[in-house]
Amino acid sequence: MSRAIEAADVAAAVDARGPWARGALEALVRIPSVSADGHDPARVRESADATAALLIEAGLDGVRLLEVPGAHPYVFGEWAGAGPDAPTVLLYAHHDVQPVATPERWASPPFEPTERDGRLFGRGSADDKAGVLVHATAVRAWVDARGSLPVNVKVIVEGEEEVGSPHLAEFLAVHGETLRSDVIVLTDVANWKVGWPALTYSLRGIAVVDVTVRSLRQPLHSGMFGGPVPDALTGLIRLLATLHDDDGKPAVDGFFEGVRTPGEEERARMAELAFDVDEFRAEARMLDGVELIGDDGVPVLERLWMWPTISPDAIDAPSIADAAPQLQAQARARLSVRVGPGQDPEFLLDRLAEHLRSHVSWGLDVSVERVVAVPGWFTEPDGPAFAAAQAAMEAAFGRRPALIGCGATIPFVRPFADAFGGAPCLLTGIEDPATNAHGEDESLHLGDFAKACLSEAYLFAELAERLSGGSTSRRGGRS
Ligand SMILES: [Zn+2]
Repeated sequence: MSRAIEAADVAAAVDARGPWARGALEALVRIPSVSADGHDPARVRESADATAALLIEAGLDGVRLLEVPGAHPYVFGEWAGAGPDAPTVLLYAHHDVQPVATPERWASPPFEPTERDGRLFGRGSADDKAGVLVHATAVRAWVDARGSLPVNVKVIVEGEEEVGSPHLAEFLAVHGETLRSDVIVLTDVANWKVGWPALTYSLRGIAVVDVTVRSLRQPLHSGMFGGPVPDALTGLIRLLATLHDDDGKPAVDGFFEGVRTPGEEERARMAELAFDVDEFRAEARMLDGVELIGDDGVPVLERLWMWPTISPDAIDAPSIADAAPQLQAQARARLSVRVGPGQDPEFLLDRLAEHLRSHVSWGLDVSVERVVAVPGWFTEPDGPAFAAAQAAMEAAFGRRPALIGCGATIPFVRPFADAFGGAPCLLTGIEDPATNAHGEDESLHLGDFAKACLSEAYLFAELAERLSGGSTSRRGGRS
């Protein structure tokens, strides 16, 4: 692309900033900024402060923490020197990370960044501290090369994404205007393969409930009472077993209402991805002999991107270490539902609660408590912003990006796109199928990290070229 050739000095600056970006990423990974309950919130604040310092180093102005009560801090910075005719681009990432449940199973300590085989291992090395560095490096490279950017940018780095952004509505109400932009770039999803970039045009939502089953006022000796008296844990297990049919498809009434089925054009696009089931099984680290579930008649990608799911995230029950031959008085499970793009998470939670209440055995007491409900998101991947991203990625990776869906959730996308009048959202990748975000041995492909930084630097030029001038030309995408 001509824009890429014209930006050769910026590309050289991205390259020269490589060691800086790597060092800054490692410093962020060393901070265990776990946003989940029960972890030290001071570490999330420490990571917000470190992110703020990084954005200042990147050349951004007005860098500060944006806060709402009870939420982990967001970090904001901007560069507004491109003038009123240039588009304003909001760059999103998050600095919080998932907890590490089993550090002993990691090949290297999760918060000690370690390079092996061209990958950087560590919690948050990809999801999403690499996203923070992609934005910072792209901005810094333009400042280094030209002393200015071709677009206005605002950077927002969230601190509670990994817990479902529970304060997002308040944040939008208080700080939405500060973030107002023409295009949103979210670097927090996956590339299709190593070396094959992707633009993501649909996300699933997430909804979470806690279900509690009670049978007794206190645990009982199973020898003195077992037989006639019901055990709450058995009741919970029986109840959870009703949530899927024998094929592993959710069996809750109404659960498939609103599910999208791809049209012809989308099916053709999916076919171009040359999806390989065996490769997918390997990427999912499935054991030999374990079957895929859902419905063999429906393509795997459709089940993965568009179907709702139900899975137990955790069960409160005595651990084996504390085992005694007792009847349990109470048992509790946290269930998470991935919500298909186009589905209503509140509706699914109502159906799930009804199902749980009507399927419980033996008159046991059951209560259902909502934790979070976030809708999915879908857009048509066309218009000038998508064209800009495709051109930038092709120039940086030497390959046109795959247009893909993603089964995961970024709560930020939909409310902000809507608030900015349907601003186009470009979801770009920093992960790849080997990354194992949220899991053990999370890692970043360092070669693709460098290309992602370059791609975003090119993207600024492409967006400036395609979206500058009147506001009509900016309204290319839809939410
Ligand atoms: Zn993430």
